[in-house]
Amino acid sequence: MDYYSGYINKLIEQLSRLPGVGAKTAQRLAFHIMSMPAEQARQLAASITDAKEHVRYCSCCQTLTDSELCPICRDGKRDHKQIMVVEHPQDLAAYEKTGRYEGVYHVLHGAISPMLGIGPDDIRLKELMQRLQGDVEEVIVATNSSLEGETTAMYISKLIKPTGIRVTRIASGVPVGGDLENIDEVTLLRALEGRTEL
Ligand code: ZN
Repeated sequence: MDYYSGYINKLIEQLSRLPGVGAKTAQRLAFHIMSMPAEQARQLAASITDAKEHVRYCSCCQTLTDSELCPICRDGKRDHKQIMVVEHPQDLAAYEKTGRYEGVYHVLHGAISPMLGIGPDDIRLKELMQRLQGDVEEVIVATNSSLEGETTAMYISKLIKPTGIRVTRIASGVPVGGDLENIDEVTLLRALEGRTEL
């Protein structure tokens, strides 16, 4: 691709590292950025560096937030004895959009996948176990219904059972292999209401 400027080649290369962005899309995005007004391009670059600089993991639930504790963990009106375990912050957002869940969350940032070499130590399970030393009555495992999500649910169940804390799994109203973030609110609520003991 020597017929472009070296700067453009570098931009295309960086963009093509993003998930779901192939070489063609990266090229299209790069030329789109080149056609933007300078100020807009500067804002795009700044929003990436700002987010990286200011966003951190909540020290309690591990979701992404601007402060030490996220707004949900800070909220005294929520039921802090009920913890819903999800794979990603987007899954937390999906349940928050239903407006009906009053407990708190724990974000694992992934799921156990022997095939991809992701083990229990690679997701935020240790942090979950630490939280369970406090006053917790129920852990609702709301990992995706993929092979990885189910493997993670079984692992969590085995880990928590000896503590005597109730462990439940959301019902299979969530389609097999489905990501929580793509599921409508009614299905999410039904899955929560129909949860079963693990
Ligand atoms: Zn939090």
